[in-house]
Amino acid sequence: MRKPKLRELQEAIKALIKGPYTTKFPFAPAEIIPEFRGKPVFVEENCILCGACEQICPSDAIEIRDIINEDGTATRIMYRNYLRCIWCSQCAAYCTVENGIEITNEFDLSTLDKNSDTGYEQIEGKLVFCEKCGAPITSEKHLLWLAEKLGTKAFQNQTIFITYMKSMGLADDETYVKRDEYIREDLNKILCPKCRRAIMMAEDWSF
Ligand code: SF4
Ligand code: SF4
Repeated sequence: MRKPKLRELQEAIKALIKGPYTTKFPFAPAEIIPEFRGKPVFVEENCILCGACEQICPSDAIEIRDIINEDGTATRIMYRNYLRCIWCSQCAAYCTVENGIEITNEFDLSTLDKNSDTGYEQIEGKLVFCEKCGAPITSEKHLLWLAEKLGTKAFQNQTIFITYMKSMGLADDETYVKRDEYIREDLNKILCPKCRRAIMMAEDWSF
């Protein structure tokens, strides 16, 4: 049998007196330093569901799920898969509103409960879609945030302006009347950039 070296003996004696160097986790809570970068979580009241974090996420842990509901309304879901997340904090660093994501110091997501939801999180809100082609534009919260940021300049963009007016109860939820040709009235609808351009081209240059 190999004889212990003097240094190893010294370490063993020190450990007997001072106790083990290793932590007792998971039998006791681990000591976390305040700067520890742990699990990111959406802050629902601040997040405007703009999707910028989905674009910045290097591991595709965040997904945008845009759903048209049976009643004709639409929902945007921001979904985060913690099994893909590498806890780099880029989503929080580049968040449009700066406080849409909180970096917690939680790190232990392991569980024996197969029905547990610790592996993902999601938040949702109203999605605004093009009244002509049905393409998703962005969330209602995002458009209202833009309206607030732009102030009176928001009047220049009908999609932002109409969404704002609807949120104030000052515009009706009219159904878009589909026509073969475009008319000027169509511009006063919530439209994606592609449809607005097509209507303007038809209106101004008869394309
Ligand atoms: S912490 Fe990094 S990997 Fe995790 S969701 Fe945010 S950007 Fe993606
Ligand atoms: S507000 Fe921030 S957290 Fe919410 S979707 Fe936009 S970038 Fe992501």
